[in-house]
Parts: sequence; C-alpha cells; structure tokens
Amino acid sequence: MKKEALLTEEKTLDPQDWSALNELGHRMLDDLFYYLETTRQRPVYSKPTARAIASAQQPLPQLPQDASAVYDDFFTNVLPFNTNNIHPRFWAWVQGGGTPFGMLADMLASGLNANVSIGDHMPMHVEKQVIDWSKEMMGFPATASGLLLSGASLANITALIVARHQANRDIKTKGLQAVKGPLTIYGSSETHNCVLKGVEVIGIGSDNFRKVPVDEQYRIRTDELKRMIVEDIAAGYHPFCIIGNAGTVNTGAIDPLNELVAIAREHNLWLHVDGAFGAIPYLLPEFADRLKGMEQADSLSFDFHKWMYVNYEAACVLVRDPQLHREAFTTAVNYLSLHERGLSAGPDSFTNFGMELSRGFKALKIWMLLKQNGLETYRTLIRQNLQQAQYLAERVQFQPTLELLAPVPLNIVCYRYNPGNCTERELNALNKEILMQLHEQGIAAPSYTLLNGQYAIRTAITNHRSRFEDFELLVNETVRIGTGITGIVG
Ligand SMILES: *Cc1c(COP(=O)(O)O)cnc(C)c1O
Repeated sequence: MKKEALLTEEKTLDPQDWSALNELGHRMLDDLFYYLETTRQRPVYSKPTARAIASAQQPLPQLPQDASAVYDDFFTNVLPFNTNNIHPRFWAWVQGGGTPFGMLADMLASGLNANVSIGDHMPMHVEKQVIDWSKEMMGFPATASGLLLSGASLANITALIVARHQANRDIKTKGLQAVKGPLTIYGSSETHNCVLKGVEVIGIGSDNFRKVPVDEQYRIRTDELKRMIVEDIAAGYHPFCIIGNAGTVNTGAIDPLNELVAIAREHNLWLHVDGAFGAIPYLLPEFADRLKGMEQADSLSFDFHKWMYVNYEAACVLVRDPQLHREAFTTAVNYLSLHERGLSAGPDSFTNFGMELSRGFKALKIWMLLKQNGLETYRTLIRQNLQQAQYLAERVQFQPTLELLAPVPLNIVCYRYNPGNCTERELNALNKEILMQLHEQGIAAPSYTLLNGQYAIRTAITNHRSRFEDFELLVNETVRIGTGITGIVG
C-alpha cells in the first residue's frame, strides 16, 4: 500500500472540522451562560419528563452521531431537569451552587486532560499550592500534608486509614489480625453516615463505632465519651480514634473540639474532625473561636464544593503528620519511582497520600476561584448565609403555626408546620406532604430529617445566590401550603 493511502485511513478522535466544533463550543458556552444567568426565573425543581428519561434509555451507540445532535439531546433532555442546586432557593441536603467562572476553570482543566498523580508538571504544583492554602485557611501547620479528593466522604476515609495505621503499623502488611482486641472509634450519634460507612469499609466494623449521646444542642457529651473509652479499655478493646464534628449534617452542631483534643491526647487517640461544611466559617475572625481546637486535630476534612461554592467535585483532607500519612499509603513500585530529571522527576507523587492513581485536575478550579474571589469575598458570603439562617429562624419563630425544631448554631434551620391540633404522627405526614409540594410547585428545595422522631423541614444554606426575600417566601409558602392541606388558617 502507498504511504498516502495509509495516512488517509488513520483515525483520530480529534475533529475533522475544527471550525465547526469551535462554533458548537461557542454555542454551548452561550447556552450555559444564559442558563446560569436566568436560573432564578425557573422553578427550583422540574421533574424529568417521560421523554427525557427515555432519552437516557437509548441503545448503546454503535455508529457515530453528529456532535451537534448529541449536544441537542443534552440541551433538550438533560439540562432542563438538572439537580438545580444552582438555584437561589435550593437548600436541600448540603449542596453548593458552583460558579460560572468555576465552570470555565473546569473546561480548562478538562482541555489539558491533566492526570495529577505523578511527574514534574504544573498541575502537580498547582495542587500543592491549593493544599498549602488549605492548611493556612484551616490553621494547620505548613508542615502538614494533604490531598484533594472528590468529597468529604473520601476525605474522611483517607484520614481514617491514617488513623488506623497510627494505631498499629502492622495492619498494613498483616491485616486487622495484627490487632489485639478490636479497634474502637468514637463519635457523636449525629456523626455523618459516611464516617460509619468508612468504618465498615476499612474493616473496623460499625459495631465498633461507639455512638456517643449528644446534649440538647446535639453536641457530643464528653462525659459519656470519657466513660465509654475507659470502659472499653477495661474490657480489652483498643480505642484508636475520636471523630469530632465541626457542623453536623442534621442541625449544624459543633462539638466542643477543644475538649476532644484534650481527651484524645490523654488517651493517645487520633482526633479526626469532619468539617465538611462547618469548618469553613473558621475563616471568619468572629466565628473561629467556636471552632477552636479544630486546628489541633490530627486530621481534618472539608469540602470545597459545599460552603466554598466550588463546582463539583472538590474536597480536601489535611493530616498533621506527613510521614505517617505517606507511610499509610505508599508502596514501592518500579514504574512509579521518581527520576532525577525529565517528566518523571518532580514533586512527591500524590498516589503516596491516597488510594487514587489517576486523578483529575480539580485543583485548577479551586486555585482559580480562590484567586478570582479572594478570601474576603468568601467571608462576606459565609457571613451572609449565617445571617440568613438566623433570619429564617426568627421568621419561623414569629409565625404562630411554625415551630423551630433545633437550635441554629450555623447555617442549618430545622422547622415544621404545626397548627396545634395534630398528633405527632399527623404532623410528620403533614410536613412530609408540605415538603413534597414545595418541591413539586417549584418553589423551594429544602430537605428533611428526623429529630427525636419529629419530621423536620431542613434548610441548609450554602448558597451564594440566596437572598433574604427567598427565606421570606419559604416561610410564607410553607404556611400557605400547610393551611391549604389542613384547612386551618394560621
Ligand atoms: C456532606 C457531608 C459529608 C460527605 O461529604 P461529600 O462531599 O458529600 O462526600 C460528610 N460529613 C458531613 C458533615 C457532611 O455534611
């Protein structure tokens, strides 16, 4: 065969017509900017239509389709039925809203297609910079180590693995059989479920997670914690770790972290703080005192994609002892050893600090957003969310038919509609119905939780687009829907 014939047959996934893709790319950008700019004008929730769902049940494609047709499918069927955590009245679970500049940063990261695991290239240095900034933000020493992960769930597991390694270094080679007496771990009954999952996954076993009772403000009871540790030691167990909560998922409670530091030191236990969203107000000088002790933990996890409003996914774990962190994860492999020069030289591989080998360039959006906004902007927005939570709590207390169900130490407000003549069971069903209607009518998207058996409408405010008027609307609409259901005018 002639060389020319061969060349024409060689395939690539790059476009044949770059200018057509360029044009499509600009259309995508225009569409997305418009979508983001006008998000407030749309309902907070739109149920996916049967047609949209069917579009996600097509046969596995065998033959190529035109890129613009693929995009049209996305535009018609996916985009209108988004989670919509970008909406100003989205307060469900704890989800951040991302930013348009973050979207662009993600595009750049994806264009570079960087694999940030090993090698002497700038994406490695950018992630190191983001980790250094994270330490500074959270009051950790510059000598600490860290890693970016997809979320606080993975950040928590990463920290637990280091804690386990500290408890017994033989586990790495011999497994949990190396431990005399089961390892036990302690955290309040309000600890996030992902920590429990982590405890199961790394072989500690959820039976060995001691759920410590909480006080009336949903904070860990340190007297109970101390009693449980002492009892476990006497019974032949091997306590190794305490979980401190900086902002529980149910009510935003902050454990007395200073006391946990002292208890951990006394019993030589690892202290890990889950600060998924609640660690963030550490940036506020007027709030930092309430999180005091966090900076003395052995490890800390927090999300960038919640209360730092960074586009999904982005979280960070910090570990005070970098050697221990590295030791817990490193394995000597020939194809990953570093050279003196060239691409294979350079900073210590991130694979020595976590489970992932191939890793995307999530550092870029954090790096760019922190620079674009500066911490001062974040401080303003976090303060705004904290004030909005207090405002909502006040509005709830002001309404005779609404009831605040938990204290509001942070950015989470739990309340219910209570016209005063229903049983607890009826109230639970009534408030569940109100929540579903708030969603279905596209008004607002809080979520729910059970507090002492009481169904609570739960509003978690990590939203830089919310305005005070949005909370006013939530209160009025809750009362309107509740009144409509019960026929009782509040
Ligand atoms: C959200 C959350 C997590 C889990 O974080 P992901 O980023 O969703 O993995 C853990 N702990 C707390 C307190 C949370 O709010």
